Amino acid sequence: MTAVEGPAALSWRDLARIGLERLDSANPRRVSALAELGVEHVGDLLTYYPRRYLDRSREAVVGELQVGEDAMVLATVETVRAAAGRTRRARVEVRVSDREGVPLRCVFFNQPWRAKQLRPEMQAVLYGRLDVYRGALQMTNPVVDLVGNRTGGIFAVYPLSAKAAIGTWEIADMVAEALRRCERRGIADPVPAGLLAEHRLCGRSEALRLIHNPESSADARRARKRLVFDELLRMQVVLIRRKRERQRACEGIAHEPDRELLERFERRLPFELTAAQSRTVEEILTDLSEPWPMHRLLQGEVGSGKTVVALMAMLAVVCGGRQAALMAPTEVLAEQHYLELSELLRELDGAGSGLGAGAGRLGLGGLPPVSLELLTGRIRAKARERILTGLATGDVHMVVGTHALISEGVAFDSLGLAVVDEQHRFGVEQRAALGARGASGGLPDVLVMTATPIPRTAAMTVYGDLDVSRLDELPTGRAGVTTAAVTESLQQPAVWERLRTEVAAGRQAYVVCPLIEESDKVEAAGAEATYEELRAGELAGLRVGLLHGRLPASAREPLMASFRRGELDVLVATTVIEVGVDVANATVMVILGADRFGIAQLHQLRGRVGRGSQPGWCFLVSENPSPLAQSRLQALVDSSDGFELSEIDLDLRGEGTIMDSRQTGRSDLKLASLRRDRDWVPKARRAAEAIVAGDGPGPALADEIELLLSDADVDYFDKS
Ligand code: ADP
Ligand code: MG
Repeated sequence: MTAVEGPAALSWRDLARIGLERLDSANPRRVSALAELGVEHVGDLLTYYPRRYLDRSREAVVGELQVGEDAMVLATVETVRAAAGRTRRARVEVRVSDREGVPLRCVFFNQPWRAKQLRPEMQAVLYGRLDVYRGALQMTNPVVDLVGNRTGGIFAVYPLSAKAAIGTWEIADMVAEALRRCERRGIADPVPAGLLAEHRLCGRSEALRLIHNPESSADARRARKRLVFDELLRMQVVLIRRKRERQRACEGIAHEPDRELLERFERRLPFELTAAQSRTVEEILTDLSEPWPMHRLLQGEVGSGKTVVALMAMLAVVCGGRQAALMAPTEVLAEQHYLELSELLRELDGAGSGLGAGAGRLGLGGLPPVSLELLTGRIRAKARERILTGLATGDVHMVVGTHALISEGVAFDSLGLAVVDEQHRFGVEQRAALGARGASGGLPDVLVMTATPIPRTAAMTVYGDLDVSRLDELPTGRAGVTTAAVTESLQQPAVWERLRTEVAAGRQAYVVCPLIEESDKVEAAGAEATYEELRAGELAGLRVGLLHGRLPASAREPLMASFRRGELDVLVATTVIEVGVDVANATVMVILGADRFGIAQLHQLRGRVGRGSQPGWCFLVSENPSPLAQSRLQALVDSSDGFELSEIDLDLRGEGTIMDSRQTGRSDLKLASLRRDRDWVPKARRAAEAIVAGDGPGPALADEIELLLSDADVDYFDKS
């Protein structure tokens, strides 16, 4: 290491100790406005990154624009008028002129605050499409940046809330001062120089200077790349360190799966495992035999055959004398899993014994019977008592249930494996609680199953401390689904014709109503209207049921049951059918207002048909002509691979679909985007792996991680 002259370069912690009021450019209004934006100290300020850059060389003047063209115009506000309007929509009309004095009208709908934000003589940059309305040039709902009287080639535009009492140019002033005053000591760079060289990344000081004051867009990209790498690297170091620590610190159970028994089980299955299933089972068995607790995520879309994989893991544990639990997010799903497991076990048991009344003891090809129980809130007190006793004594080997499994009074004799279905709905604490149930001798292994395929980079980030198995292959022998995007009303009759043909052939259909996010109530009303309309029109004469979220469970279940029994031809429903509906005889899925659903959700819905031996049909009905909507629907027409679709979704919509705002908001990922930076995620992961496997992150990087990734953030990412 070279000796450093004078005081050491400023670390992140140093910067976090310098209050904003120490800047000459600060004043109480600015400081409190920044506090509202979450900027408390100089460290925050330097990482309050521009939302975008304004490149003055791209500035247009109205006189040279074509109607229909997208443009950026620097303009001076002339008049502002808020029109109450006859309709309910708030409308603010702003007249501006560009630097040549050419007038332009801007109309803002549903943004009443614009009337307060924009004042005569203000300089504003408008981004929007030029159109003509009643002979005058106009932009409707342009994006607006208030920039003050700034000059120069490229300048940063900072994200502001509508109410923030600070201008973007004021932030720029303060950032410039902060950067200037850091120059003497310099800003420390905790990332090893070799790593930076390997990835051709610039130094941190330079990156911070350029991200705020680039001279070209290439500068801004270079700066961003470096800062993105830092964010991803910190995150990955945390995730990988956690994974290793857990392996080292926690005592697990080194199961000894009985291979011969599992092979016998496999041979007696009515189908052959897919290659993906075999690979996954192998991965799990290897984990089970390790002395540390498994934390594995099993990803596989609906129908990919997760249940049998889970059951094989459970059997491996149970035959070694431990217990296994499967926890589902809802009672319906728990019951469904219970039935599926019973069924699979019964196959092995030969014809005779099956699910007996009560205990459900199941034989396993000559071995002592495996006892499987269901524990949900619906189980009556007496049965519950019996199951609880069985769990405590070890007489019950496998249990399927809901939250009831982790409620007061549930104790296992020796829980060896917890399988958790759909991690999204379970909090960290709940999973920990189930883990803690394995009282004697080591923490149980945990397998999390999810039906939502997510892109690789997202899996690395969101579940970076879990091992991930992917069931990326559907069992064969399925007739598959033909998907069509129906975007013109002329094509719609063909949809209903197909539906009626299928029903005439004895099959069933779903019609999904448009998604209405406003409220359950509005959605239910919409569904009711659709139902009435269809029953009187396209579906006249068919036996049609209506299912929506406002129906009480007491009405919902009989309805589902009669659909299952084939007493209804068509089920008109809201997305409540997403959860736990499995009717093999259903072959048609019509999704109305399909453009309102996300790709993942459409794919999930589509998975409800074509699961049996009969080919399925999925119609995505939408009258939304927007290119984005169209390309999403087209993606579903083109691909039936959930993983591939998740990548496309990421491309089209960004990570909002994967990481909700709360999650990204709380994290250290300010710049990094799983979409834009997808190549950088694995690079950062590899670098982090090397760091953790080597001498560790070093004190500077370690300190920064501790500071920037608070426990709360990390826990959120730590899905286990
Ligand atoms: P998932 O839980 O992933 O949605 P399931 O495990 O419920 O899927 O499996 C869906 C259906 O496919 C079940 O009826 C199951 O018995 C069947 N199945 C599972 N694996 C195979 C396979 N390898 N070949 C044929 N059918 C399979
Ligand atoms: Mg299943």
